[in-house]
Order: sequence, then C-alpha cells, then structure tokens
Amino acid sequence: MSIADQNSEPEEGAGHSTEAHLIYGRMDDPRWDYSHHLLPPITASATYRLDSAQRGAQGFLEFAHTTDEVHVTSKAPIYIYDRLGEPNKDMLEENLAYAEGGEVAVTFASGMAAISGVLGILTGSGSEVLAHKVLYGCTYSLMTNWYPRWKIAVQFVDFSNIDEVAAAITKHTRVLYMESPVNPNMRLIDLRAIAELAAKINAKRDANDRLYTVVDNTFASPFCQRPLAFGIDFVIHSLTKAIGGFGTDIGGVVIGPRWSHDQLMLFRKDFGGVLSAKAAWPVLVVGLPSLAVRMRQMQTTALEVAEFLQTCPEIERVLYPGLPSFPQAELARQQMRDFDGNFAPGSMIYFVMKGSDARDALRRAEGFINTIAKEAYCVTLAVSLGNIRTLIEHPASMTHSAIPPEEQVAKGLDPGGIRLAIGLEKPSDIINDITQAFHHLR
Ligand SMILES: *Cc1c(COP(=O)(O)O)cnc(C)c1O
Repeated sequence: MSIADQNSEPEEGAGHSTEAHLIYGRMDDPRWDYSHHLLPPITASATYRLDSAQRGAQGFLEFAHTTDEVHVTSKAPIYIYDRLGEPNKDMLEENLAYAEGGEVAVTFASGMAAISGVLGILTGSGSEVLAHKVLYGCTYSLMTNWYPRWKIAVQFVDFSNIDEVAAAITKHTRVLYMESPVNPNMRLIDLRAIAELAAKINAKRDANDRLYTVVDNTFASPFCQRPLAFGIDFVIHSLTKAIGGFGTDIGGVVIGPRWSHDQLMLFRKDFGGVLSAKAAWPVLVVGLPSLAVRMRQMQTTALEVAEFLQTCPEIERVLYPGLPSFPQAELARQQMRDFDGNFAPGSMIYFVMKGSDARDALRRAEGFINTIAKEAYCVTLAVSLGNIRTLIEHPASMTHSAIPPEEQVAKGLDPGGIRLAIGLEKPSDIINDITQAFHHLR
C-alpha cells in the first residue's frame, strides 16, 4: 500500500468515527520485518493481542516454566503483558548473560530491584545474610531497615578476612553478599576464596539449605571481572552505571544459574520491578555494544590520572588497582581481567586528602569537591559511575554522612576520601581540572 493510499479513506472501519479510527487505525506495518533490522526496534507495548483463548492459556502456562520443558511447546515466545516479558528485555538478557559467562539473566527496573530480586528468591523468614561490612548505601539500608521486619538476620564482617567469614557462618546462613572492588574504598575481596569456602560448607548441607554467593559486580563491570568464573553463584549489576554507560536510564540485572530463572521471573512479575522496554533498548543497542571500547579507554585514562594524583602533595594516598602501590596488587592482577585475559583494573579511583585529623581531612575534601563543582569543566560533582563524563563525589559528606567521622575511620571509610569515576575525556583534561582546583585552594 502506498503512502497516498494510507492517507485516503480507510477500508476497514468504514462507517466508524474518526475517533475510532485513531484508536483502531494502522498500528502495524507490512514493511516492518523484524529480523531485517540492523538494530531492533523498541517494541514497547504494555499488552499483547492474543489470537485465541487457547494461545493466551498456553502463554500463561509457559511463563516462568522455561526450565521445565514439559510446558514449553511454542516455537516463538508468547508475549502477554510487559510485566511478564517483552522482546527488548529478552534480547538484552541473553547478551548480559553472555557478557558475564552466566547461564541466564533477568533484568530489573534498577540495580536495587535486582538486589532485592536475587536476595528475595534466596532468603525468607529465619534465614541469615552474611555481608561485607562496607556496602553500597541502599543495599545496606535494604538489609538494615527492611530485613529485620521480615525476620531475615543480617551480619556484617570483613570479607577480606576469610577466617572471619568462616567463623560467622551459621546453619541459617543462606547468602554471602559482597562487592569487589568495594564501594567506595576499592578494597578487593578474593572471590575464589569466598566461593571455595561456600563449596566447603555446601558439601555438608542438603540441597534445600544451600549457601549461595552473590557479588555486586557494578564497580568492575563484566569487562573487568566475571565472578561466576571463580565459582560465585550470582552476579548483580546496576545497568545504570558502566553497562548503560551514558547515564540515560536506570536498570539492573541478576545473572546466575539456569534453575534460578523462573523464580527470578516470578519474583519480578509479582513484586513488579520490571525494566521498561524503553530503558532496555539503549542498553541493548548503545551501552552493552560499546562497553569494551569505553572501559578500555577509561582504564587507560584512570591509570594516568591515578599516577598523577600520587604526585599531588595535598593527597595522602591513592587507591587504584592498576597502581603498583595498590595494597592488593597481586589479587587485582589475578581477579580483574578483560575478555581477552588482559589485566583490567577498571575506571574507579579512590584517594584520601591529607589532614591533621579526621575532621580536618573531611573539611579539606569538601573544599576540594566544592571547588571542582564550581570551577571544573570536565569533572562533575555527581553520584553514579561508569559514565562517559568523569564524576566525583565525597562519600563522607554525601553517601555515608550519617556516620560520624571517627566511626567512618573504624569502618574503613576515610572522612577525607574522594571517589573519582573516570569517563571518556582525555587524561590531560581531567588532570588540568584537578590541578586548577588545587591551585584555587592554595
Ligand atoms: C548504583 C549502584 C547500585 C544500585 O543501582 P541503581 O540502578 O541505582 O538501583 C548498586 N550497587 C552499586 C555498587 C552501585 O554503584
């Protein structure tokens, strides 16, 4: 049908009102051949037309029965309603599972929805979660504000001390939860050692009360580190960060073993934290395909910036896994590897300002951050990371401000600590902004 034909009086719906035609007019297109698009179109549709009640019944039967082959008889997926599933998310999930070397992936509305999802299927009243003592702020809040209401006990220990972890596991412990590198202080956790400890415990447990390991791999991104390869059971990501890469959308994902897929899908359907197709699409067509080239560039820049920061007299110490001075340099080299096996220390830097005491260091860090916020051209005061723009933040006065400075020190957080998330700018541009800020303060 030509454009002229399309604009003339419609054949179907003749006799109905213009308003009816606006609702029932052309919404499909015979030229729309899905498999021939170089990029998939956004297929957002809250609900799907079903040809028959039988097809609807089959769709409901097959939902969350992907691992049960008895039920899955359809050649193509039967889409019913966006909260259950839709093609953009399906494609993205396949690619995310591939990136992490996992069997399945289930996306969520945010990184926090993904964390709630994986912990949701692994825990219940009476079970215990053992977590590293420093966590992303909202994860900490989830575990301390909400889990007590549901009688899920949470204990925090130092996961870089494997004996401490082993000693804290009880028969009710169901999850070992951690980030590596730890946000914000870049502490690394030996993922293989944690997975081996869990395997040792599980050798003496029933299949029903297995202990599972969960790693938030957001800081490293799958380009720099793939925890499943070390025997970790589940990986979560905030897609909002390096994977999305451009800061346009919020999203999350859980990647894990095949058996978990249907439970994660049921959890997502019933708790409702679904990634919208419009948010899945940029991650699918822009973020994930450019992850490697962005990360490779960012970590080259990060090393150069970290080396520069080490020469600044105002700075006490710089923590970047790519520096020879990094306290866990050997573990970094073992654990952080790109898709080709090259050392991949990532795009995150943590540095600590000098100060006569904790409060003085905090004051100096704030001064530096405020100067950057006012004066810098290509370093932005903003939370988030893995963005094409370099972002800086001051955990002590922002994300961890509820904790008094002295207590922060005890937890391994520095009042004078600054988190720098490198972007795609040239190293000289970032270094120039930092140099200018220090000049201002002198
Ligand atoms: C941002 C972030 C999250 C939460 O992700 P959202 O997409 O903001 O919900 C979790 N963990 C880490 C390490 C993060 O940086």
